[in-house]
Amino acid sequence: MRIVLTAAALAGVSLLALGVGGRLAADRGRTGASPHPSSANTSGSPGGGSGGHAQTQPLAGKIVGIDPGHNGRNYADPAYIDHLVWNGREEETCDTTGTETDGGYTEASFNFEVARSLAADLRAEGARVVMTRGSNSGVGPCVNRRSQILDGAHANVAIDIHADGGPPQGRGFAVLEPVADGPNDRVIAASRRFGADVIRRYAAVTGMPRSNYDGSGGISFRDNLAGLNLTTVPKVLIECGNMRNAIDASRLVRAAFQRKAARGLAEAITEYLR
Ligand SMILES: [Zn+2]
Repeated sequence: MRIVLTAAALAGVSLLALGVGGRLAADRGRTGASPHPSSANTSGSPGGGSGGHAQTQPLAGKIVGIDPGHNGRNYADPAYIDHLVWNGREEETCDTTGTETDGGYTEASFNFEVARSLAADLRAEGARVVMTRGSNSGVGPCVNRRSQILDGAHANVAIDIHADGGPPQGRGFAVLEPVADGPNDRVIAASRRFGADVIRRYAAVTGMPRSNYDGSGGISFRDNLAGLNLTTVPKVLIECGNMRNAIDASRLVRAAFQRKAARGLAEAITEYLR
């Protein structure tokens, strides 16, 4: 089904996202009920959504959700980041700081750089992109809220971007897939198809091997993550490599690799949505 968004619907998405950040700034420091100032943002491409660009804008009219895991200042507010939220099956912490390389390059930075590059690639193809955070200098939002942002935007497909903190000898990338739990029942099959596209294109473009320690053949099924348990849009989470492995880390920290990672994900998304 093709979705034609009206101007009012698009404005609604933007207002929803802006409302989060705006209200949050005001609520910060009050009860724990509010998410953190952060920064969902949406934007489209100039001319996106119009017809006649099938060749150059294969994603015109499509909405893609991107969740760059963690945030650059999560470490600064442990009480907030450690509070428990419902993830669809059980309680888990709002978020974590994420991992980092031995050299101190943070996963939050990596995730955000890949997400930013991916968003640019997708917009160039005509997609409207919804991100769960708009900078790497904030705290949150919590993992359940991230899922809600992408669900509420009615993304045609979405991806959670991470890098792992695995065993030092472990190498490679893994695609984490949802397990049916009620809220996500209707997107399990679609997420499987998308996951296969991600594995194929990410491996081809980046040359990163499939994980030799997480799951099997680069796929791991997870039922303990809000981002996968609560999703109502087709989604997978990618661990782009292992930041605790010296070989993987030497690649993950490079801007050129981050752009390749984004390109691989953009190709997977385009393939899936076609
Ligand atoms: Zn992570």
